[in-house]
Amino acid sequence: MTDMLCMWVARRHMRGIVRHVPIAAHALRRYCVDFAISPRQRELCAETVRFARQELGGRTDESDRSGSLDTEGWRKAAEFGALGWPVPREHGGSGFDPLTSALAFEALGYGCSNNGLLFAINNHVWACAIYLVKHGTERQKARWLPELCRGAVVGAHALTEPQAGSDMLALAATAHRDGSGWVLNGTKTFISNGSCADLFVTFARTSESEGPERALSAFLVPADAPGVRVTRELEKAGLRGAPMGEIQFSDVRLDADQLLGREGAGYQIFTSTIEWERGFLFASGVGTMRRLLETCVEHAAKREQFDRPIGSFQAVSHTLADMRIRLELAQLTLYKFGWLKREGRLAMLESSILKLVVSEGLLETALEAVQLHGARGYLTEGGIEREVRDALAGTIYGGTSQIQRSIIASLLGLPGAP
Ligand SMILES: Cc1cc2nc3c(=O)[nH]c(=O)nc-3n(C[C@H](O)[C@H](O)[C@H](O)COP(=O)(O)OP(=O)(O)OC[C@H]3O[C@@H](n4cnc5c(N)ncnc54)[C@H](O)[C@@H]3O)c2cc1C
Repeated sequence: MTDMLCMWVARRHMRGIVRHVPIAAHALRRYCVDFAISPRQRELCAETVRFARQELGGRTDESDRSGSLDTEGWRKAAEFGALGWPVPREHGGSGFDPLTSALAFEALGYGCSNNGLLFAINNHVWACAIYLVKHGTERQKARWLPELCRGAVVGAHALTEPQAGSDMLALAATAHRDGSGWVLNGTKTFISNGSCADLFVTFARTSESEGPERALSAFLVPADAPGVRVTRELEKAGLRGAPMGEIQFSDVRLDADQLLGREGAGYQIFTSTIEWERGFLFASGVGTMRRLLETCVEHAAKREQFDRPIGSFQAVSHTLADMRIRLELAQLTLYKFGWLKREGRLAMLESSILKLVVSEGLLETALEAVQLHGARGYLTEGGIEREVRDALAGTIYGGTSQIQRSIIASLLGLPGAP
């Protein structure tokens, strides 16, 4: 059915002209976005915020200083179920639908100030476990998903290479056929959870003759396989509670059961799954925006200068209003994206928009939070400057802001998309 006809049916239906037309419900579904939050979802969010406040935030400064994963927080998050929220129940998860998962991860970000721990968790779920959920065989799912959900196995996503960042088709890692399996060689860098991971979802070139989009395959590589080595721990500005590493694969033998999806389908697997990663990885960032806004409102109401609370100055109150507007946009794009995925719809455009709105919005909000707190915002002890360092990364990982704009432009029919 064409869009024009859909709109005609939708308009007539709304005016009561078309009733009991079987096609109307289908047509209307395209136009009625429905992400009303149910009482059960509301309760889940409240419960998650309570849990995150009580159990997860305590070691934020320590994680930030040491640049290490808060393993206690990780274990507690696993016990709470967060590591398996979108994973089907039969594989050890909670079986939450995509919108419910988005709401729960937003609540986690709102309640917990350890953005590094949250990033490690989100990366584990949306850049590793979700690949198994979407593309794993029953055997692969049974082998890995229950342990990923329990947090006994830490997941990572190893795609980027020193010479292949935004341009994933330039990957140089190879997996050569060897009997019924492969031999994997290559270097992966900037890998989140890399130095503490037990399982890598990785990508390598399996063909020299196929075109670039059929030359890559995806593999599941346990970190303890012979030939897998963490060659460097990478120090970074923010999200320091999520360790980052460089990984070397040297003659790693892979058997047939370690191939994810079909041979040569790596690019398609990546492009269909990155939509989930880009979208949901940023749900916790929406919660962070809300947490920062509330901190700033409280400070603006309490801090007095010139015998008045600073929030009474228009320059300050308008900054807070802008923060609120950014939060509203971030929530709307997140919930719409969650709803689209719940409906089983493609959402490439929406995931890029969501990533831009949340990552750039969060960075702006964090910078303004520093300004609004004056020198107190610049001190390490208040934790506001850390929010800026943490927020900086969002415009880079999962595809840079420039790449997201190119994707959006290409979906407008413009040439030159990456
Ligand atoms: C905190 C963090 C966590 C990460 N975690 C992981 C992980 O777990 N696994 C993983 O595989 N990778 C990870 N990465 C790597 C990340 O995916 C890459 O950094 C990202 O894809 C960009 O690649 P690059 O850094 O090599 O930059 P480059 O690709 O070299 O880009 C440099 C600059 O050029 C611009 N540019 C490049 N090409 C274009 C173009 N066509 N049009 C316009 N501008 C362009 C970019 O936007 C950027 O501004 C992580 C990165 C960070 C910062």
